[in-house]
Order: sequence, then structure tokens, then C-alpha cells
Amino acid sequence: MGAQTSDVDAVVIGAGISGLYAVYKLRGRGMTVHGFEAADGVGGTWFHNRYPGARCDVESVDYSYSFDEDLQQEWTWSERFATQEEILAYLEHVAGRHDLHSAFEFLTRVVSTVYDEVSALWTITTDTGRSVTARFVVMATGVLSATNRPDIPGRDSFTGESYHTGEWPRHTVEFAGKRVGVIGTGSSGIQSIPIIAQEAEQVVVFQRSPNYSLPAGNTPLSPEQIAEVKASYPERRRLARLSGGGTPFTPYPKGALEVDEAERRRVYDEWWQRGGYLFAKAFPDQTISIEANDTAREYVEAKIRDMVKDPEIANRLIPTDHPIGTKRIVTDSGYFETYNRENVTLVNLRSTPIVEITEGGIRTSDTDYPLDMLVFATGFDAMTGALSRIDIRGRDGRALRDEWSAGPRTYLGMAVAGFPNMFVMVGPGSPSVLANMVLGAEQQVDWIADCLDHLDEHNAVSIEATEQAVAEWVEECNKKAAATLFPSADSWYMGANIPGKPRVFMPYIGGFANYGNICAEVAAAGYKGFEIGGEKDA
Ligand code: FAD
Ligand code: NAP
Repeated sequence: MGAQTSDVDAVVIGAGISGLYAVYKLRGRGMTVHGFEAADGVGGTWFHNRYPGARCDVESVDYSYSFDEDLQQEWTWSERFATQEEILAYLEHVAGRHDLHSAFEFLTRVVSTVYDEVSALWTITTDTGRSVTARFVVMATGVLSATNRPDIPGRDSFTGESYHTGEWPRHTVEFAGKRVGVIGTGSSGIQSIPIIAQEAEQVVVFQRSPNYSLPAGNTPLSPEQIAEVKASYPERRRLARLSGGGTPFTPYPKGALEVDEAERRRVYDEWWQRGGYLFAKAFPDQTISIEANDTAREYVEAKIRDMVKDPEIANRLIPTDHPIGTKRIVTDSGYFETYNRENVTLVNLRSTPIVEITEGGIRTSDTDYPLDMLVFATGFDAMTGALSRIDIRGRDGRALRDEWSAGPRTYLGMAVAGFPNMFVMVGPGSPSVLANMVLGAEQQVDWIADCLDHLDEHNAVSIEATEQAVAEWVEECNKKAAATLFPSADSWYMGANIPGKPRVFMPYIGGFANYGNICAEVAAAGYKGFEIGGEKDA
């Protein structure tokens, strides 16, 4: 136990989009809530990822809270895809507007959460030695928040500047006159490389796997566009909630192979113009049938060849290891054209792997690259990493890390058998990263609040998923994934980016609206698959 102890109704861990809304909603129910946040501010993803070029890839007007109609009308997004800076300003504004900062203890990392069966309380302990007991604990720790710095030989011997995109410093990083090495060509690398290349003397991109990326088609939002969105917000949100991905866009009504060449091309042209990752959803069968997928892949390959002048470099930039869309398609601004610049070199790590990081740069199997700065755009221990870094103990001292050693096991992505009154936010077993995560967080927090109302109405104090409900939900998630092409990619959705991590497709791929309906049905059936217990006034 730490120096101080205080009892609250709920502890919320994490002050990102999910944690902020959880605090707002639980307080609105009259609960006392204490928050912990490792960073020294709110914003989560948008606090930590300050790398150049960081933007959302879901349109800003959709990637924003819907719970506060006045906020929705008052806030004006300046661009189709907002910058990190603007999204962080928005989240700070929301936190200020609803007095959410006051709930959080910042610069405080939770190291353990332990359930006591006698008191039916959680004890949450931090790296500052503080302990707080709470009836409920909300894990809003993020699914892309535990950074991955791969264990490359000599990693820590580099004496130049070194950064990870997911832990980017607050100060301005100067690239001018420097030789910069970027490791990684996922969304973070692809967003940052064009901007770094504009300033740096030289950029060397170390690419292990090429990725599909589409121009964002980003533009400032005109007053007319803003007015139109604001006037139609209720309908826009309604359509988003009815959709597969939490945005008001739906795929073409026919499959890619059900239309002729001209119609297919017209649809792809339209979705190319729309820009970004949504291209994966132009046709409904694109990530289900490899033949349909091939038509999308061929379309994008031709575009990449148009953008990159040197055909040999274009070849290196075209993925051959996964169907298009089975890793998140990146939403970029001038990425492929960057390889037409004289100061940019693309190193293919598949043919010339990194041997070691040295004091002065990177040595591959055939070349020494002297560098002044290293940028790790190497991603995250996704979906489970932030949770596995906390010692979470449920009934009988069971550790979540052990329970999930063969892959995460949840009921509806929110509850775990053996861990009563613990709610996981936007985690494995929910649509999570496959949908607009702001609406995803709202959907779950609203469900949790209703669930707590239900407990109150029944004078109960605890709720816990049954082993059977978890087993059935895991099976359902696996079945849904197996019906798609997604498991064939070595993606972070599958845990494939982290050595030794079990290969399981972690999100629920049955669609955002379907997931919401299933959660609602479970609630309407008296929280089917849960055990509700304890007596409040006993
Ligand atoms: P986070 O924002 O990750 O917040 C979790 C917080 O918990 C962090 O602040 C972290 O410091 C804190 N925390 C973690 N562990 C502990 C601990 N032990 N103790 C104390 N605090 C802890 N999604 C989309 O839908 N659209 C997008 O356009 C989009 N763009 C993205 C761009 C980037 C660069 C990245 C990395 C992700 C993006 N995502 C996007 C996914 C994004 O993570 C979510 O949209 C959303 O921001 C997640 O919010 P969250 O509150 O669930 O988690
Ligand atoms: P990522 O997609 O996992 O990409 C990491 C990159 O690092 C990959 O190219 C990976 O190669 C490479 N890498 C990892 N370990 C390596 C090693 N040991 N040696 C060489 N290369 C290595 O991570 P991310 O780019 O940070 O993106 C993660 C997710 O965050 C995205 O998919 C997206 O959901 C979200 N995001 C969104 C945006 C946005 O546009 N809004 C921006 C950033 C992030 P392999 O592919 O071979 O593993």
C-alpha cells in the first residue's frame, strides 16, 4: 500500500478520448471518479504522437465527440483531416469545458490493479507509491499507446538524436542540415517522411515491408462545408452508427466482381478521390475475396507506378506480402512522390537487413549509413501492450497476462471472466481500431453507464462475464475474422509485429453497427452472459 489511500466509486486509467468521456459520463451518474494518466496532460494518442505530419485519417468532423451537441456546433475544424495539434487543442478544450482535468492525477503511471474478493474492491497502485481503492476500474489505457522499440543490436549505442514517433517530444525537432534515418513505413513513417524530407539534408528510409498508402486529398474546410456538416450532424452521426466502420460512408452496393471493368474503375476513381484508408471499403467484398482484392491492388499499383519516377524504386514500394486493406491503408500527403527527391534513399531491409545500430548510424548487410538522427516509426505493442504492462490481478490472484497468454479473451471486448467490475475500453474483441474510435469509445462508455444503472436498480455491486460467454465471444470473433482475408497478413492486428506475441486477430470484425446491436441485445436480455452479484445495502 502507498502512503495515501482514498476510496472512490471508479478509477479511470488514461486521459485519452476514451478516458475523458468515461470520467464525464460516470461523474454524470453521480459517481466519484479518480483518473490516472502517465503523461502530463490529456489527449492520449494526440498528446504522445507529435511527430511531423501526424493527422487523423478519419475525417475530423466524424473523428470528434457526438455526446455534446453544443460542442459539436461550436467547434470548427479547419481541415478535412486535422493535425495532431488541432486534435489535441480540441481534446484540451473538451476537458476544460467539462472540468475533466480535475479528475486526473497526471505524470502518474498505474503499475498494478488488484481485486480483493472479500471487499469486492480494486486496489490501484501507481509508480508514485499511491494506492486508491475503487469499486469499478475502467482501463482506458489505449490500444496504440505502448510503443515498440525493436530490439535491434546496438539500439542504444547511437549517439545522435533518437526519437520514437509515439513518444515525440514537445520541443521542435530540427531536421535542417541533418542526415535522418527513419525505420518503419507504417502510418507514422509514411506521414512523417515527406515532411522530414522537405527539411533534412538527407533521409534514409529503412523499409522492412512496403505498405499501401493513398493520398489524403486533404483540404481546408470552407465555411460552406462547415455549415453543411453542422446542419446535418444528426443525420451524419445516425449514418455513422448504422455503418460498418463508424463513419457515414458505406461501400458500393455491388461486389467488385459483379460489375464490369468500366464500372469498377469508376468506383475506384471515386474512392481514390475521396482519399485514404476508406479505399479498402470501396466494394464490400474487397477484403473477403482475393479475386476482388486483386482488382483493388492492381488499381493502386498502377497509381504508385505513376507517382514514382524510377520503376525500380516503385517496385520496392509496392507490397507483395498482403492483400490490400488487410493492414491499415495509410492516408498520406505526398508520400510516394517523396522518393523522386534527390535527398531520399529507400533501403529494402528484406534484401539488405539491418545488422546493427552503431554510434554513428545504421549498418546493413551491405552498407554503412552515417546518420545524425534516428526516427523509430516502429509502431506499438497494439491492443494488449498497455494492459500487459500493468500487473492486473483478478479473482484468486489470477494475472491478466497469464489469462491472455494465448491471445486476449474478452466478452464483448469490455469484460473478462475472473475480473469483476473491470471494463476494458475499445480493446480486443471490440471493433476498436477497425472503426472510428471516438464513436467506438462513446458506444462503450454509454453501455457501461447503462450497465451501472442496471446494477443500481437491482441493488447489486458487481458484474462479471462468465467463462462461457467469453469462450463464445472469442469463437465468434475468430469466426468473423476467418471469413476475411485479414488473418493472412502479418499485421499488428494479428500481433505479428511483436516477436513472441500470439498470432490472433484481435479486433471484432463483424462491423460497428452489428457490434452495437449485440451489446444492446445483451443488455436488454438482463446482461446475458454476465453474473451480477452482491447487495449494495447488505
Ligand atoms: P489513448 O489515446 O491511447 O489514451 C490512453 C492513455 O492512457 C494515454 O494517454 C496513456 O499515457 C495512458 N496510459 C496507458 N497506460 C497507463 C498506465 N499504466 N497508467 C497511467 N496512464 C496510462 N483512430 C481513429 O479512429 N481515427 C484516426 O484517425 C486515428 N489516428 C491515429 C493516429 C495515430 C498517430 C495513432 C497512434 C492512433 C490513431 N488512431 C486513430 C487510434 C487512436 O489511438 C484512437 O482513435 C484514440 O485516440 C484512442 O483513444 P483512447 O483514449 O482509447 O487511448
Ligand atoms: P506500424 O503500422 O506497426 O508500422 C511500424 C513499421 O515499423 C512497419 O513498417 C514495420 O515493419 C516497421 N518495423 C517494426 N519493427 C521493425 C524492425 N525490427 N526492423 C525494421 N522495421 C521494423 O506502426 P505505426 O506506423 O505507428 O501505425 C500503427 C497504427 O496507428 C496504424 O496502423 C494506424 O491504425 C494508427 N496510426 C494512424 C495514423 C493516421 O493516419 N491517422 C497515423 C499513425 C498511426 P513491418 O511491417 O515489416 O512489421
